[in-house]
Amino acid sequence: MKINRNILKIKPYVGGKPIAEVKREFGLARVIKLASNENPFPPSPGVLKAMAAAARDVNRYPDGSCYALRQELSRRLKVAPDQLVFGCGSDEIIVMALRAFVNEGDAVVMAKPSFLVYSIASTAVGATLVEVPLKGLSYDLAAMKKAVTAKTRIVFIGNPDNPAGTFPSGDAIAAFLKGLPADVIVFFDEAYFEFARDEKDYLDAMTLLKGRGNIIVARTFSKLFGLAGLRIGYAAASAPVADLLNRAREPFNVTSIAQAAALAALKDEAYYTRILKILKRERDGLCAGLERLGLAYSRGATNFIQVRWPGSGTDAALKLMKKGVIVRDMSAWGLKDYIRVTVGTPAENKRFLRSLKELL
Ligand SMILES: *Cc1c(COP(=O)(O)O)cnc(C)c1O
Repeated sequence: MKINRNILKIKPYVGGKPIAEVKREFGLARVIKLASNENPFPPSPGVLKAMAAAARDVNRYPDGSCYALRQELSRRLKVAPDQLVFGCGSDEIIVMALRAFVNEGDAVVMAKPSFLVYSIASTAVGATLVEVPLKGLSYDLAAMKKAVTAKTRIVFIGNPDNPAGTFPSGDAIAAFLKGLPADVIVFFDEAYFEFARDEKDYLDAMTLLKGRGNIIVARTFSKLFGLAGLRIGYAAASAPVADLLNRAREPFNVTSIAQAAALAALKDEAYYTRILKILKRERDGLCAGLERLGLAYSRGATNFIQVRWPGSGTDAALKLMKKGVIVRDMSAWGLKDYIRVTVGTPAENKRFLRSLKELL
């Protein structure tokens, strides 16, 4: 077999283990998953209804342009319809950006550690990865700017990032953009936007689109809107950049059920506002619980917390799994003494804290 040599450089992505697998493997009846930053609540009744209605028409291909959703988001975000691009999750938008802008041997700048899809997808297109270490759990945007050379095509900024959970301040972003060559694409990944938007010093990168041709801002329905299993995300950019992304897209990349669900989710604002409030309150509760246990942690501007573990995080994650609590071992990111826990339902969070206490 002759193989694309870029593909051989990729370490396959290992996700959080599914609940059914942990039940099977450890013979457990009750397992909870707090490992993949999913929303623990089901979609709103309106979303479920929209999905059922859309299911009747799945004999047809979906609308490749996502017309209805595009109109709705264009109104909400105050961008022109042709500035939007839709993806099979925002993961696919990352892939489209790399396809559209990066040739073999070009450079892509990202933080280390950062979202694994940036490095996997960059490697797949033969890019040179320039990874700039975090300072603690924060971006070092000054160092990232220094890492930009004539070869750089894209800089990925998680706003906020995963697994760090932090975001660069608005001032740091402004300094970063100042004097940056206009042909370098700055890709802001706002998967956790709804959780971060009210944080002090947070800059919504959508506000940077006006007058700048080189910004892409990606968002998703996988996190607050709880549609991770349907795979739908989107991005806004200047119209010429959106056009290039659109060329790099598979024709029917977003399913009809996903489009209907996303549109209904946007319209069910009250439901998701309530869920956001619950999750933030639960996040505070988890932080208080960790303090009671004497554990250091970093609360993300997201729906997850990085817990510092006195010892091997891998070991702790395995022990928790045997108790039926799936969290994320951070060793794949090089954060060996951390475990990442996603904010769950009130009952799940209680069980997590109880299990941690038993471990200690
Ligand atoms: C979860 C996540 C995404 C979104 O992934 P989807 O493909 O939209 O499900 C994107 N970026 C980061 C940093 C994430 O954590």
